[in-house]
Amino acid sequence: MKAHDGMYIDGDWRPSAGSSTIDVVNPADEQVIAKVPAGTARDVDSAVAAARAAFPVWAATAPADRSARLTALRDALAARRDEIAETVTAELGAPIGFSRKVHADLPIAVAGSYAELAASYAFEEKVGNSTILHEPVGVVGAITPWNYPLHQIVAKVAPALAAGCTVVLKPAEDTPLVAQLFAEAVHETGLPAGVFNLVTGLGPVAGQALAEHDGVDLISFTGSTAVGRRIGAVAGGAVKRVALELGGKSANVILPGADLTRAVKAGVANVFANSGQTCSAWTRMLVDAARYDEAVELAQQAAAKYVPGDPGHAESRLGPVVSAKQRDRVRGYIERGTAEGARVVAGGPDAPGGRERGYWVRPTVFADVTPDMTIAQEEIFGPVITILKYEDEDDAVRIANGTVYGLAGAVWSEDEEEAVAFARRLDTGQVDINGGRFNPLAPFGGYKQSGVGRELGAHGLAEYLQTKSLQF
Ligand code: NAP
Ligand code: MG
Repeated sequence: MKAHDGMYIDGDWRPSAGSSTIDVVNPADEQVIAKVPAGTARDVDSAVAAARAAFPVWAATAPADRSARLTALRDALAARRDEIAETVTAELGAPIGFSRKVHADLPIAVAGSYAELAASYAFEEKVGNSTILHEPVGVVGAITPWNYPLHQIVAKVAPALAAGCTVVLKPAEDTPLVAQLFAEAVHETGLPAGVFNLVTGLGPVAGQALAEHDGVDLISFTGSTAVGRRIGAVAGGAVKRVALELGGKSANVILPGADLTRAVKAGVANVFANSGQTCSAWTRMLVDAARYDEAVELAQQAAAKYVPGDPGHAESRLGPVVSAKQRDRVRGYIERGTAEGARVVAGGPDAPGGRERGYWVRPTVFADVTPDMTIAQEEIFGPVITILKYEDEDDAVRIANGTVYGLAGAVWSEDEEEAVAFARRLDTGQVDINGGRFNPLAPFGGYKQSGVGRELGAHGLAEYLQTKSLQF
């Protein structure tokens, strides 16, 4: 695949200060499809310097001008829709249909939402004898993961630009190609040089240099809890702003009167989408004791429809996971589940038939899962569902809230009021009621250890603003 051999810094592609490169691997067949430069601390320095220099002018632009640039960015992304989808399919392994509908269309929609919000947001408000100014925070360091690689970039960069901030992005090493495509789209929009900068590289090198950089005013990170904790500590030490989006172990609670067939089907689809590599996935299905066995059977039937298939084929529903590391991690969890006494009713730890090459995992359903098991507590990040039994509503609430996470969740009931009353008792940032659709304007983010801050919509824009009060 096409790749740039430089960093996008100060409005141009420049050679890296170092000479190392990163192999980009197609997870479906383990072929190296491209190489990108592995950025160094010096590259991060140059990128931050460019972002700092660009900040005063960009911060002072009229919101309508920023809106116009973001509209151009949206259009530049939309013009690359197919290329984005093919790139994400090649470097992440997502089925092409899913890549078009989600990996391409979602970030295009989010970019469009910030084009509108930049124009409509109240950057000034009056409170009594004060005028409150909502001003950009400054230079943003964005560190993103590989699982929704373009969405996670746009969910940080678009609101930052809308707010008047400038940005240095360090994307995941596994999915740098779509980040380069994004930089191309930015370049085409004619944003002033230095407003957006891209440094590809390794987390512990380029990512860490960015998180620790004195010239960065806000770090926005999405990824693992382990790295997020460190970034939060570094940011706290330097008294700089930080936003963390750290994954989850969300509950899909099917209340006794709910349409079981529909709820189980949607629950299985929710987890197996993107090979289970979704931080908000409903990886714990909670079913009442009376209908537990029926739910397990329905889940088993639903899982049988997810046959691992070549990501490039239009009819494929389940691709590989992103890397050998993730494959081994997910398979390890499947073995652990069995060892701790859960029952595999679909899938298992071995490679799917005929898939010796590539990072494949069989879509797996666990029954007889109890809340204390490792597979019911830790984020697996693969196509693995756990089904738990609850006795009554209080028990369901206790189990649903019984992890360190709180990112998303679902409640199913024949009575919407009952579902809403239940949702109010959940310690989590989002709850979908009876299969409610994803809303790209709704705040997304975590309670408890799922993170700090919110992304998307007006709440996501507010993350990049700080307030100044003028008294009259
Ligand atoms: P990760 O290491 O936390 O990666 C996220 C981002 O942080 C990547 O850009 C990564 O760079 C960078 N990074 C790594 N170490 C860093 C450091 N010391 N300082 C600054 N930045 C650093 O996550 P992962 O290893 O890809 O995945 C591990 C697990 O994290 C998954 O199994 C899953 O449970 C969880 N995860 C959650 C989400 C989510 O959406 N919340 C996304 C991805 C992963 P590199 O790409 O070079 O590592
Ligand atoms: Mg990593």
